[in-house]
Amino acid sequence: MTIKKILLNEEEIPKQWYNIVPDLPHPLPPFIDVATKQPGVGIVPRIFPKAIIGQEISQERWIDIPEEVREVYRIWRPSPLFRATGLEKALKTPAKIYYKYEGVSPAGSHKPNTAVPQAYYNMKEGTKRLSTETGAGQWGSALAFAAMMFGLKATVYMVRASYDQKPYRKMMMKAFGAECFASPSDKTEAGRKILAEDPDNKGSLGIAISEAVEDALVNEEETNYAIGSVFNHVCLHQTVEGIEAKKQLEMVDDYPDVIYGCIGGGSSFSGLMWPFYYDKVAKKAPKETKFVATEATACPKVTKGQYQYDHGDTAKLTPLVPMHTIGHDFIPAPIHAGGLRYHGIAPTISVLVQEKQMTTEAFNQIEVFDAAKIFLQTEGIIPAPEPSHAIKGAIDEALRCKKTGEAKTILFVLCGHGFFDMAAYDEYFSGNLQPYEYPAKKVDESMEKLHKLYPWLDEVNKKYISCETI
Ligand SMILES: *Cc1c(COP(=O)(O)O)cnc(C)c1O
Repeated sequence: MTIKKILLNEEEIPKQWYNIVPDLPHPLPPFIDVATKQPGVGIVPRIFPKAIIGQEISQERWIDIPEEVREVYRIWRPSPLFRATGLEKALKTPAKIYYKYEGVSPAGSHKPNTAVPQAYYNMKEGTKRLSTETGAGQWGSALAFAAMMFGLKATVYMVRASYDQKPYRKMMMKAFGAECFASPSDKTEAGRKILAEDPDNKGSLGIAISEAVEDALVNEEETNYAIGSVFNHVCLHQTVEGIEAKKQLEMVDDYPDVIYGCIGGGSSFSGLMWPFYYDKVAKKAPKETKFVATEATACPKVTKGQYQYDHGDTAKLTPLVPMHTIGHDFIPAPIHAGGLRYHGIAPTISVLVQEKQMTTEAFNQIEVFDAAKIFLQTEGIIPAPEPSHAIKGAIDEALRCKKTGEAKTILFVLCGHGFFDMAAYDEYFSGNLQPYEYPAKKVDESMEKLHKLYPWLDEVNKKYISCETI
C-alpha cells in the first residue's frame, strides 16, 4: 500500500539550516543606501539583533540551529510529507504528487519556522518587545506565538483590509499576548500622514512595514523589528522544510522532477527548494529538478515586474533592495491571497530567475480556487488561498503528465491551512470572485516615478544588477 503520510521522528528535526548564498550562480547584489547611493544597509543595524544581521550577510553554507529553537520546533516539527493519493486518483495522472504540509504549526503556516529563531535571538540580546507588520494575519500570529514562547512583548500592525475581513487572526494574536493595530494607525508618523490624506485608507503591506519599522526606530532601546519574508535570514530559517522533505522522500525512494511553491516574499518556497538546489550544485541530485514559483496575477512581481532596486516599504525607510518589483507604491486589489500581495520578492529568488534556475507562473484567483476545491475534495485539507497557487501549478503539471504519459514526481509546499479563509471560499462558491490582473502599464508608471525620485538609479542598477552573468 502507498504510504499516505511520511513521518520523521523528533530527533530528525534538522540541526542546521542551509544557506544558498555561497552557492548562488553569481553573488547577491548589495543593498543600496539612498543617502550615499552606495552599498549600505541604512537603518538595518538599528532594528535587528546582531545574530540576525550576521545570518543575513552570512556566506556560511550551514548554520547551527540553537537547541532552544529546536525545542520549540518540537511542538509541530518534523511536519508531515503527504502523498496526494486522492488527488492523483481524481486527476487520473501517472504523476506522483507529494506535498509538505506546514499548516500543522501553532499559527497554521510555515511562518513560525522563522518567528521562533527571530524571537530567540532577540531575547538573547536583551530585546523586550518586537514590532512587525502583517497582511493576512499569518505572520502576525506566528510572531505573537514566538514572542510568547520567549517572554517578549509583540506589537503587530495589521493591514486594515484584513483587520476588518479576518477578525479571528487578530483575536489569535491577542490570545498569544500581542497587541494588534489596524494599519494605517494613529500610532506612528507614517500612519498619521496617510490617514490625514485618506482617512479611509485600507492599508497595504508596504504601509504596515513602514509603521512597524518606525515603531522599532523610535523605541530603539527596547524594541526590534522582525520580518516575515524576503530577507535571506528568513528564507534560511525556512529550509527546515526542504531538509526534512528530502529525508522523507528518501524513505519512499523518490526524488522530485519539479517543485512548486507560491511566492509572497518567497520564503516558504525558498525553504522547500533551497536544499534541493544544493543537491544540484553539489552534483548530488539524481535528476534535473525544475523549480517553479507561482504568484497572483493581481500582484505579478516576477512575471510582470522589473528586476531593479526599489524600497521594501511604502514610506521608503528601508534601503534599496535588488529584486523584482512592481513598485513600492503598489496598492493591491482585494484578492484573498493576502500573503501574496507584497510588491517585491526575495533577492535570492531574483538571482535564480535571472540565471534561469527558476521559472514563474501567475494565476488568477478563480482558477486558483478551482484548484483548491479539487484539492480539498480529494485530500480533505482546506488549503489557504496562497498555497492554492502552488496547487494550481501542480495540478496543471499532473494533467500535462496525463497527456504525455510521463510519471513525473511533483512536490509542492502546502504552506498553510485555510481555516480563517472561509469567507473567501464562501465568495468563491457563490460565484462572486473577481479574476484581477494587474496592468503592466501601472508597473511602468510606478517605475517612472521611482526613477524621477532617484535620477541616479539607472546607473546603480547597471552597476550592481545588470552585471554580466558568469
Ligand atoms: C505568508 C504566507 C505566504 C507568503 O509566503 P512567503 O514565504 O512570503 O512567500 C503564503 N502562504 C501563507 C499561508 C502565508 O502565511
